[in-house]
Amino acid sequence: MDIANMKKCFEGLRTPFYYYDTVLLARTLDAIRHETDRYEGFHLHYAVKACANPKVLRQIQQAGFGADCVSGGEIRTCLENGFPAGEIVFAGVGKADWEIELALEAGIQYFNVESIPELEVIAEIAQRMGKVANVSFRINPDVGAHTHAHITTGLAENKFGIAKEDMVRVIRIAKQMPSVRFVGLHFHIGSQILRMDDFEALCYRINEMQDELEAEGITDVRNINVGGGLGIDYENPDEHPVPNFKAYFETYARHLKLRPGQRLHFELGRAVVAQCGSLIARCLYVKQTATKQFVIIDAGMTDLIRPALYGAYHCIQNLSSTAPAQTYDVVGPICESSDVFAKDCQLPETKRGDLIAIRSAGAYGETMASRYNCRELPRSYTTEEI
Ligand SMILES: *Cc1c(COP(=O)(O)O)cnc(C)c1O
Repeated sequence: MDIANMKKCFEGLRTPFYYYDTVLLARTLDAIRHETDRYEGFHLHYAVKACANPKVLRQIQQAGFGADCVSGGEIRTCLENGFPAGEIVFAGVGKADWEIELALEAGIQYFNVESIPELEVIAEIAQRMGKVANVSFRINPDVGAHTHAHITTGLAENKFGIAKEDMVRVIRIAKQMPSVRFVGLHFHIGSQILRMDDFEALCYRINEMQDELEAEGITDVRNINVGGGLGIDYENPDEHPVPNFKAYFETYARHLKLRPGQRLHFELGRAVVAQCGSLIARCLYVKQTATKQFVIIDAGMTDLIRPALYGAYHCIQNLSSTAPAQTYDVVGPICESSDVFAKDCQLPETKRGDLIAIRSAGAYGETMASRYNCRELPRSYTTEEI
C-alpha cells in the first residue's frame, strides 16, 4: 500500500471503514491459481467466514474459486454473489435444520459432517425432501498446530470433528443410508499456521487413515479436504503482501499420498484476504495520563475484534504524519478495557484528525464486526471505489 498516496484518497471519506486493495487481492488469487495449477486435482474453496464482503466475494468467485461455508447465511451470501451451488461446501459443528434444508434445496457440492447425530438429521431431511445428500466426514486428526490456543481445532480435546477411532464406523453407517452418499474426508487443524511441518504432520496422519480405510475395504474416498490455516505476516505486511503459497501447496504435493483420481480440496480463508484489507480510522483525541499517552481512534473492537479477542497483533500506521516517533497506546471508543489495538506502539507524533491504518485486517475483521454500543457497522471501499 502506497501510504502517501492513500492519504489523499481517504481524506474525504467518513471513518472508520475497511479498505480492500483489490489489486493485491488479484495478485494473491493469481499466486494461488499459479500454484494449484501445478498439481493434478488441487482445488480451493475459499473460507467465506474470513471475509464475506460482497465485492471481495465476487472477485474471488470470478477468479474461479469455490466457497467453504459454515452457516446458512454464508451459503445465501455466496449464492447471491455468483457462486454456483455445486462449488459450495458446508461445514460446522452445529448445523440447524433450516440450514441443512437450504443447502439441499440449493444443491451444494457436499456437507462436511461433524457427528453421527448430525449425519442422522441430514439423512432424515434429505429423505423427506427426496434428495441425496453428499457427505464428507470431518475427522479430528489429533494433530496440534503451533498457533494461538483459541485457534487450534485439530486436537482430540477440541469440539470439532469425529474421533479418528470412529471413522470406519461412521462411513459404514453412511453407506447404509439411501439418502446419503459418502464422498470424502475433511480436516482442519487450525488457523494462522506458519510452520509447514504442522501441515506435514496432517499429511502423515491422513496417509495412515487412508491405509486403514483400504485395509477395511473402503476404497471410494473421492475428496480429501485438508481445510485451511495458512498464516500471514502480520508484522511486515508490506514486505510479505502475498503468503508463501508455493511452500504450502508443495508440502501437500510432497507428503500427501493421493489415490488415483482423488481430488484434494483446500479451504484457505485468512491467507487469501488478510493482507488486502486495512481498517482506516481517524484519531479523535490524544490523551496524556500520568503514565501513558493514548491515541483514541474512532474505530473500536466492534470494527476489528482480533486484538481484544485473541491479543492479536496488527501493524498500525499514521498516514498523516511523518514527525518523529512517540510511544502510544492505540485504543478505541468502546466501553470495555479490552478495546485496545496496541500497547506501547511507536507512531509518528499523532494529532487529532490524523488518518490511522490498521493493517492486515482483511480476514476476521469486517465479518466479526458487531453493533455493540449501538454503533454502525463499518463501511467498506475497494481500490476502484476511491
Ligand atoms: C475457518 C475455517 C477455515 C479457514 O481457516 P483459515 O485459517 O482462515 O485459512 C477452513 N475450513 C474450516 C472448516 C474452517 O472452519
